[in-house]
Amino acid sequence: MTTAQPLDVEPTPLALLLLGREADPKSERGVECPGELPAPSDPDLVERARAAKEKLGDRVFVLGHHYQRDEVIEFADVTGDSFKLARDAAARPEAEYIVFCGVHFMAESADILTGDDQQVVLPDLAAGCSMADMATAEQVAECWDILTEAGVAQDTIPVSYMNSSADIKAFTGRHGGTICTSSNAERALRWAFEQRDPSAGKVLFLPDQHLGRNTAVRDLGMSLEDCVVYNPHKPNGGLTAEQLRDARMILWRGHCSVHGRFSLDSVQEVRERIPGVNVLVHPECKHEVVAAADYVGSTEYIIKTLEAAPAGSKWAIGTELNLVRRLANRFADQGKEIVFLDRTVCFCSTMNRIDLPHLVWALESLAAGKVVNRIQVDQETEHFAKLALERMLALP
Ligand code: SF4
Repeated sequence: MTTAQPLDVEPTPLALLLLGREADPKSERGVECPGELPAPSDPDLVERARAAKEKLGDRVFVLGHHYQRDEVIEFADVTGDSFKLARDAAARPEAEYIVFCGVHFMAESADILTGDDQQVVLPDLAAGCSMADMATAEQVAECWDILTEAGVAQDTIPVSYMNSSADIKAFTGRHGGTICTSSNAERALRWAFEQRDPSAGKVLFLPDQHLGRNTAVRDLGMSLEDCVVYNPHKPNGGLTAEQLRDARMILWRGHCSVHGRFSLDSVQEVRERIPGVNVLVHPECKHEVVAAADYVGSTEYIIKTLEAAPAGSKWAIGTELNLVRRLANRFADQGKEIVFLDRTVCFCSTMNRIDLPHLVWALESLAAGKVVNRIQVDQETEHFAKLALERMLALP
């Protein structure tokens, strides 16, 4: 029997943690900010961020993912989805420091695509991604062994979503596969199937089962029965050798904890509440949600669709709340009504780890000549991950 140790800290209220407003020293041991992390209540935070950024000048390039808080986006030199940001960083070789306001796998991709003399900084190391964490290098290596034993590995091409760790991207590169984004998943899958005998070819899709399934069924015309789900927590992935042989899409059992929360009920409820509403969702949502929506696409597609929408149109959006709120404010004076698809709070809690105090701390440290929270991918991983990313860039 174990004895509970007394807590030496006050537990942080769960709601605040989910909103990324506080730190939980018990669960975040090892995630330290050497030096002074400014207090969230410091009235000079905005001025301090501005001053540090000004002092660094062209030496720093700040990237802001679409799902970041407004207070952070304000200091971003560019905004975008993960892949656009990594490319933007690569196009700025004069920037010595890339401060990535996003999550860990995005900073890794930026490090892979930027020059060796550029240093990528993630303001808070606790900013991970629950989906990327659902596929570890060991689990994926074991899966490949199982596919090999079932006699299907030679017919299988891995296709990994951008939202995966550098290790998984490297695995994909090593085994002849490609990376995809939510914008080019269809092209990536078509390319992958062309690489193998059409009668036996398969794709191992990592780590988001929903994007894989939605693309295979909606865009490639497969049936749900063509897809099986590999569960890394079950012996043999929970699948028989026969199921693996019969499948065309082997979907990793991963999902986004934000987009996975939207349900068919949310779609039905919003249609009743707002007659004439257009439902627009991200393909990381569950298949039944995507099937019930009017429009489906990446964050860039969502933004472009709303830009082109006529005045007076009504929209319910199924993606991260920071972005939806920003779009609702941006288009309000054009007479476009934009609401969040779900009635409950749906921030990405890890994206929200990056807040103004952490950004100020990172910028001031860099301005003082101290590189903090550097994200650096080792050379071998970088080599194979880059191979997979380059295959994506060469997609027809
Ligand atoms: S929104 Fe989902 S996929 Fe994106 S970082 Fe958050 S958990 Fe990961």
